[in-house]
Amino acid sequence: MRLATLASGSSGNSTVISGGSTSLLVDAGLSGKAIEQRLESLEIEPKSLGGILVTHEHRDHTHGVGVLARRYKLPVYVLEQCLPLLDTGVLPQVEVLSAGEALEIGELKLELFETFHDSAASTGLVCFHGETKVGLATDTGMVSAGMVRKLQGCSGIVFESNHDEEMLWQGRYPHYLKRRIAASTGHLSNADAGKALAEIISKDAKRLVLAHLSEENNVPDLALQTVGNILVDSGVPEIAPGLKIRTAPRHTPLAVGEL
Ligand SMILES: [Zn+2]
Ligand SMILES: [Zn+2]
Repeated sequence: MRLATLASGSSGNSTVISGGSTSLLVDAGLSGKAIEQRLESLEIEPKSLGGILVTHEHRDHTHGVGVLARRYKLPVYVLEQCLPLLDTGVLPQVEVLSAGEALEIGELKLELFETFHDSAASTGLVCFHGETKVGLATDTGMVSAGMVRKLQGCSGIVFESNHDEEMLWQGRYPHYLKRRIAASTGHLSNADAGKALAEIISKDAKRLVLAHLSEENNVPDLALQTVGNILVDSGVPEIAPGLKIRTAPRHTPLAVGEL
């Protein structure tokens, strides 16, 4: 399998998961043109996509969904509660998802799981091709035991590490926004990401991408250090000696290679 982020953070999120002859776009929170260019840089033809799965209706995940779906006649997979709130215009084909559903898109088998966010609904997912499993969870204010179970056994994981708690609380955001971000339906801090990942990461884990980093309340090196320290303290390097950890760049693609 292959896994790549095209963009990450509040200015736009998009990830592509490929297995066999199927590639699936998860979210399309950039302009259609920007996503086309980034897919092409990864040698993925937009028209070859098996569809676009929308994790939730926030604009940083949906901006290019309508343009891409219409231009390439792609099915859009979206949770029922999010559908009426999508600002995508008319879509050529909609596949309505329900929470926790399992489905197949081309050669990929997907299992959805609930995340905790201030949208109408939101989902994370794990995706299988043959024996290989990858997972994605961003835009969640907390990590449930159910999420941990679903994400165990992944070779590649894209996981939210949104903010440093101290930077958030000492930063210049208005108080109501700080509270919203830190809430159990907001975004995950570096420390909470590290604690959850210490339970999630198993011997199969090869690549971890920390994602949806805040521009205002985080720094890539700090996210890597905070998560890395928690993983070291939890003995993860002995469990998964081959694990490599990166942060997802905000505006450029990151391909994690073959899994
Ligand atoms: Zn969101
Ligand atoms: Zn988001």
